[in-house]
Amino acid sequence: HRRTSTTMRSLIMGSPGAGKGTQTKRIAQRFDIITLSSGDLLRKNIMEESALGLEARAYIEEGGLVPDELVVELILKELSTLKGKSWMLDGFPRTLSQAKILDAHLKEESQPLDLVLNLDVPEGVILQRIIDRWIHPASGRTYNMSYNPPKRVGFDDVTGEPLAKRPDDNVETFKHRLDKYYELTRPLLSYYQVQGILRNFQGSTSDQLYPLIQAELETYLN
Ligand code: ATP
Ligand code: MG
Repeated sequence: HRRTSTTMRSLIMGSPGAGKGTQTKRIAQRFDIITLSSGDLLRKNIMEESALGLEARAYIEEGGLVPDELVVELILKELSTLKGKSWMLDGFPRTLSQAKILDAHLKEESQPLDLVLNLDVPEGVILQRIIDRWIHPASGRTYNMSYNPPKRVGFDDVTGEPLAKRPDDNVETFKHRLDKYYELTRPLLSYYQVQGILRNFQGSTSDQLYPLIQAELETYLN
């Protein structure tokens, strides 16, 4: 399956709290890959009170999915700026309809997806992660109060600005997000499996998973 071209278009998937953001941060430090998180983009739009952000906000706060049209518009606009570059999407697509729109769009440009990474993390560990998670809203940087605490409690390491809890990172909303994941997003794994581009990674911690992911990416890039 080795490719000779120098760019790679990829996705990172996994349940809420699986550590997609943690992995993409490390991947972006090591590889020339631009990572895009739909959740971070949506939260940025909410902070800036854009029309799209105002529309998306209620769905996110209750742990539901934002309507496909809104998210598709947001992501395709970003992707149009990344032609000829390697990229990895985190949090998109999340429904079969989003996946098909993405495929159609990439096919039109003769730039199909190369790789889909799936983080398979036991359900038992993810709720505690969500409870422990604090974020720096402006950048999307995340901290875990047990594993990866900020240098000064409550403040971002880089900017010194205050950290916040995501409004959807609570036990009840998380359950709703997990239900949506199983109902709508997990079925996408077989969609990509059939295309022969799915790679599964199992582990309970991001430190266990990262070396496996790095090794996989090295077979495509460099
Ligand atoms: P985590 O950040 O822990 O990996 P997550 O996948 O639940 O978990 P985000 O990806 O940050 O969180 O997304 C937060 C919310 O934004 C989702 O619960 C959903 O409401 C909305 N959202 C993000 N991406 C999409 C998408 N592709 N389609 C629909 N809604 C989305
Ligand atoms: Mg995330």
